[in-house]
Amino acid sequence: MSDGLRRGPRRAFLLAALAIFLVLLLLGARLGAGRSSEPAGSPLSEWMENGLLVLLLAVAGAAGFVGVRLEGSRDAALRQLELESARYRELCESSGDMIQSVDSRGRLLYVNPSWLETLGYAEGEVLGRPFGDFLLPSELPHCQEVFGRLLAGQEVQDIETIFVAKDGRKIFIEGDSSASFRDGRFVATRGFFRDVTARKLLEADKQRYLRRIETQNLELELRNREVEQANRLKSEFLAAMSHELRTPLTSIIGFSDILEEDQETPLLPIQRTYLGYVRKGARHLLALINEILDLSKIEAGRLDLHPVETPLDGVIPEVVTTLQPLAEAKAIRIECKVAPGLAVYADRVRLKQVLFNLLGNALKFSPEGGAVGLEAACLGSLTCFAVTDSGPGIPPEEQEEIFTEFHQILETSTGVREGTGLGLAIARRLVEQQGGRIWVESEPGRGSCFRFLLPATPQGPGVPLPRERNEAMAPEPRRGTVLVIDGPGEEGVLSDTVLSLGCRPLAARDGREALYLLERIRPSAVVVNLLLPELDGFQLVLRIRADPTLRDLPVLALVKPGMSLPSMDLLCAGPTEVLCPEPGRLRETLEPELAKILGHPLASALAGAGVL
Ligand code: ADP
Repeated sequence: MSDGLRRGPRRAFLLAALAIFLVLLLLGARLGAGRSSEPAGSPLSEWMENGLLVLLLAVAGAAGFVGVRLEGSRDAALRQLELESARYRELCESSGDMIQSVDSRGRLLYVNPSWLETLGYAEGEVLGRPFGDFLLPSELPHCQEVFGRLLAGQEVQDIETIFVAKDGRKIFIEGDSSASFRDGRFVATRGFFRDVTARKLLEADKQRYLRRIETQNLELELRNREVEQANRLKSEFLAAMSHELRTPLTSIIGFSDILEEDQETPLLPIQRTYLGYVRKGARHLLALINEILDLSKIEAGRLDLHPVETPLDGVIPEVVTTLQPLAEAKAIRIECKVAPGLAVYADRVRLKQVLFNLLGNALKFSPEGGAVGLEAACLGSLTCFAVTDSGPGIPPEEQEEIFTEFHQILETSTGVREGTGLGLAIARRLVEQQGGRIWVESEPGRGSCFRFLLPATPQGPGVPLPRERNEAMAPEPRRGTVLVIDGPGEEGVLSDTVLSLGCRPLAARDGREALYLLERIRPSAVVVNLLLPELDGFQLVLRIRADPTLRDLPVLALVKPGMSLPSMDLLCAGPTEVLCPEPGRLRETLEPELAKILGHPLASALAGAGVL
């Protein structure tokens, strides 16, 4: 309470009492004078006495009045003060922050309920004790330094320290503290703190996790190096071994041929049969060894490619003529459609090897009397090849797998399962090493079409790799990668369609995952079904448009007929196309749009446009 408030009414009452005392004194004097029957004073002095009396009475009245008024306002101010103090106390008591006040010797004067609750103490166990008793011992020096600054009148912000709860738990806190002073003398500190234990533990977890990832990455890198080394050694070993094996095998085949053709000492029929097995087995082994040799050379980086401008009117007839006997044996006609004057910039021998493999497979898997086609056409700076057959076709889930080493489809309708399972793996490596790409389009029961692209000229650009590979996670933009988000119950539909169009699909399960991927990779386009659960397609598109780094990313938004589009205006902002494919015509709807975005016709468009 202020001194003025306390002293004001007291002074007024004293003044009133003094005035009344003087009045009484004056009256007493007058009475005494009347009784002594002395002659009355002059009328002037009587008049002055009366005036003084009246004045004193007035002063007494006024002082009394003021005193009463001051007493009233003092009570009101006291009530107000009590009210305010109750309000502040209530604020402190109900605050979620931990509030504490400490005296000049560091003893706790006040702690609020949140403080007690967080540390698990009762008020009686805490008040009067040094605040250092509740700190983690290692925190004491730091907190004493802070306390010293508070005593010196500084306000200390962003204090971080660790308390120890009654049950021994560490409580991480953060907050600010300052001190109050009266007449220049320190009264107490007032500190406001928050319990940030959960966040700190999370951060510690995150740090631990990051450290673990770092260690794992290091280990992985080490392993990778070991694997690379082992791989190189394996390839070198295979290359050397295959070379050694080839020499005796060539002798076996050569001498078997001589035995077979020897007219002077003809073989018995049974011997001839056995010799046939030997020759077939030896040839298969030789083919296998040759392919292993090729593959290991490619892997060891020892396959020298000599790309030159290669006119196709020389290469293609050579390949077809070599395979003609195989075709005739199955009554298959090889139909060639090659635009005149067409050339490709590639290693001649390796180009022939790829064509042999694809045409050989086409003949092998087509039924007797079937049809096999070889087409080549120019597409800008690329030369496109297509080898078609009327074989059993390849199921979608096998269309990537067949390009991996030793992978053969177990069941084909023709029951054909011969060969090494290496031809396509080699073909893919050969094509890609020359800046091209290769893939298959096929439907079971409707034949297959193997396509590959190679630069037509030395300056021709390479073709982006089509398959989903690990490096798709690299942050730089990759042409041809399309982020797809399927609608519920349609998982894989968009990926398959995009893959069949020759693009590389990157599938996200929902909008959230799509945003996560978009932080790490910049695809050429996004194809999203607007009917997504959780973060739906609309929100995903809006989020993309709101992000300055993604604002220009082309989005193809798929809707179903009759679906309401509430945010149409927003959707159409930026390069967003809203598409409503007719049932069964998803591929046809997507193809021209993706081609527009990628700036070149897509795989299937090449055939559709009659280019191939
Ligand atoms: P290989 O033909 O020697 O087994 P490839 O690598 O050339 O090895 O082919 C791998 C597998 O792919 C084959 O075993 C076969 O299952 C499948 N395949 C390849 N070409 C065709 C085709 N034209 N039609 C059907 N299946 C094929």
